[in-house]
Amino acid sequence: MAEHKMLIDGALADGAQALDVINPATGSPFTTVARANEDDMLRAIAAAKKAQPAWAATPLADRQAALVKLADAIDANAVDLARTLVMEQGKPLEQAQAETAYAAIFLRHFAQQSLEPETVQEDEGYHIQAHYRPLGVVAGITPWNFPLLIGCYKLAPAVLLGNSFIWKAAPTTPVTALMIANLAKDIFPAGVVNVLVDKNDLGAVLTAHPDVAKISFTGSTPTGRKVMEAAASSLKRLTLELGGNDAGIVLPDADIAKTAQRAVGSAFNNAGQVCIALKRLYVHRSIYEEMCEAIAREAAEYALGDGLEQGTRVGPVQNAQQFEKAKTYLAAAHADGRIIAGGQVREGGGYFIEPTVVRDIAEGSRLVDEEQFAPILPVIAYDDPADVIARANASEYGLGGSVWSEDIDKALAVAAQIESGTVWINHHTHFGPHIPFGGAKQSGLGVEFGKEGLTEFAQRSVVSVSRQ
Ligand code: NAD
Repeated sequence: MAEHKMLIDGALADGAQALDVINPATGSPFTTVARANEDDMLRAIAAAKKAQPAWAATPLADRQAALVKLADAIDANAVDLARTLVMEQGKPLEQAQAETAYAAIFLRHFAQQSLEPETVQEDEGYHIQAHYRPLGVVAGITPWNFPLLIGCYKLAPAVLLGNSFIWKAAPTTPVTALMIANLAKDIFPAGVVNVLVDKNDLGAVLTAHPDVAKISFTGSTPTGRKVMEAAASSLKRLTLELGGNDAGIVLPDADIAKTAQRAVGSAFNNAGQVCIALKRLYVHRSIYEEMCEAIAREAAEYALGDGLEQGTRVGPVQNAQQFEKAKTYLAAAHADGRIIAGGQVREGGGYFIEPTVVRDIAEGSRLVDEEQFAPILPVIAYDDPADVIARANASEYGLGGSVWSEDIDKALAVAAQIESGTVWINHHTHFGPHIPFGGAKQSGLGVEFGKEGLTEFAQRSVVSVSRQ
């Protein structure tokens, strides 16, 4: 029997099968989780559908209070959650602690929100208001890079607004999701929150089911396309947070030390497996030598190891499939550029890639053109400031981007030309529950966070009163 169970209709559920969960630092299983079959998923959808009207009728203050309770429960179990997160995901303990803390912070943020009716017109002829109603059953489909946080920040706005929620965790990182399920069981009425695990085989049940009103999906662009196709049959509401290939542009007057430190921090966070990590850095030729040296020095400070070992700053990549993919990007780094930090795979159990920096590389290399999702940063020289913007934009992705300069006006002028959902100046990757977040181009559809993000979990319904 699986060590960690799912939550379906208010009860912990074993599921028809169990799934081994591998610790990426060892390459060996460390626990087992319940795995759903199609019947389990259909049961969860039916339970969510049944529970939703009563939940929507529950006073907002009670729904808000439930989110605070879940945040409190996460804080009370933070030590366990963070250690488990390291074991299933691979990230260094400090980053797992931050992810756990953030999950509670996001829940508390959403617990303070509401969507009040908005007056659209108010005169002698009409009184027109936009109201926000729940959509019904919302499904959250989450990836393996931030398995705890992403699920929580989908659950929170969904249930706050009176929807019921089905969370389908990623198969290689299901444990912390099921720990949240165990906490949620005692907080939410049966069926309001359901948490299930599959083996990459049940997402389509959710995305095609007519009783699921909305899919909030975070994952890769190819899977996002499949989700969109499947959702078309019932015209589901969709939020798609997909892949990225964020470019940073370093202007000639950038602060070398600060840029190196922060750029490397973004590129190697979570072993590079962050949708909004810096994934390619363009540096003006006039400071290229100096910048490459500073970045290589900085990268050398990033100790590779098991996330539970003290001093580790980069853990293994998360799963065997990603490890194989990362090795091909490492091969591209060797073939297409000059390695100035790292460059090797660490053999002997676990999925370890040395934090790597490669220079003298350019477009045409897979490492530059594709999303590497690994701790391998290409540093690319440019001469023409106008041309570099076009190069940064020459991607199907448009998630984030950054500009680095001591002249903020100059940086802002460049930022205005970058085709992405977010542009950071003199930093990269910063986000929060109050900051609207979404992708341009094929990095996604719709927005999470901020008021705009909240409205995506609601149906706007205009009520128009004639006064004549
Ligand atoms: P993935 O697309 O393989 O999987 C994501 C989720 O989709 C998993 O839960 C998976 O089981 C599920 N899934 C698989 N097939 C499905 C289908 N046909 N229908 C519905 N669901 C299905 O992504 P991944 O490899 O887990 O995550 C890495 C990717 O996620 C990267 O591209 C990364 O950039 C992206 N990502 C984006 C954001 C963002 O906010 N934009 C955040 C984190 C990760």
